[in-house]
Amino acid sequence: MKSIDKAVELSEQTTRNVFKRNLTRFAAVVLAALAGLVAGPNAALDAAPQHHDQVPGFYRLKVGDLEVTALFDGPGVFDVNWINGEKTRDGVLKAKHDDPHLMDVSDTGYLVNTGKQLILVDTGSGIWFGGGKFGHLVANLRSAGYTPEQVDVVLVTHLHSDHIGGLTTQDGKIVFPNADIYVAKADSDFWLSLEITAKAPTDAQPFFQSAQAIAGPYIKAGKWHTFSDSDQIVDRMQIVPLRGHTPGHTGYEFSSQGRKILFWGDVTHVQRLQLLDPKITVVFDVDPTAASATRDQLLRKLATEDVLIAGPHMLFPGLGRLHKESGTYRWAPVAFTDYWDEK
Ligand SMILES: [Zn+2]
Repeated sequence: MKSIDKAVELSEQTTRNVFKRNLTRFAAVVLAALAGLVAGPNAALDAAPQHHDQVPGFYRLKVGDLEVTALFDGPGVFDVNWINGEKTRDGVLKAKHDDPHLMDVSDTGYLVNTGKQLILVDTGSGIWFGGGKFGHLVANLRSAGYTPEQVDVVLVTHLHSDHIGGLTTQDGKIVFPNADIYVAKADSDFWLSLEITAKAPTDAQPFFQSAQAIAGPYIKAGKWHTFSDSDQIVDRMQIVPLRGHTPGHTGYEFSSQGRKILFWGDVTHVQRLQLLDPKITVVFDVDPTAASATRDQLLRKLATEDVLIAGPHMLFPGLGRLHKESGTYRWAPVAFTDYWDEK
């Protein structure tokens, strides 16, 4: 009898224990569900992995019947030490402390499809500038539906390597085999001159050497052409001399159906500084006084005109318009649209 009682007692104990365990599990499930309600409906799912790739680096719009595609070469940060003037540098350093992205820049080239010709304005850095951060222009040109072989004409604003580096590989191969390259005679004469190179300060030497290495294969192939300001190179394009940054620094203004786009090269390097104070110059300006005067004059003009601006160092895609606002300039970037007809 005793053993039966014991067995019953044990069985009841087991039942109680099982009930207790189930109750604990039930409570755990209820608690988890409540926690889910508090944290959001998907809290019970695994966290989504982050993605580190980006949309292709091109942006397309239409100017009249011209198709313009901005081609991203890479992102950069302008060094405070590249600003001229100790006082200005100190001021910029202080401002940068509160605003770490003050000096952010891009490097961009622009492709114009006129319907007859494919014209590239500036080519990015390739491997010649930027310590590996730049050099994505050709990949982005392909993403935009073109090949380097299709480019007919390359117009370069000046012969600094962040604008012409994309022309030539490190081992001296031509990147755009069917293109004719055009540059202002004053720039070509300056950067490709061995006499001027020999007299240039040591820290300026790399600019001369890279220009000569990049231009060399095209000169050899008979594809390097220089122009004077009154020449007509391609239809519906006006040469706009913008001297100062370099001796032959040139903008290119295309017109179509009453609309205009100006590729302005290095009229600005750091948009948030130089639109605020156009007098700020950089160590890369061959003639800082002339560069500043050119900028001042051009910004005044553009602020009163409806001209689309393409600026290689404005933040990508570097396309926008200028407005004057309480004595200073405001950049109005184009708004992203997937309907790419520029109105
Ligand atoms: Zn530049």
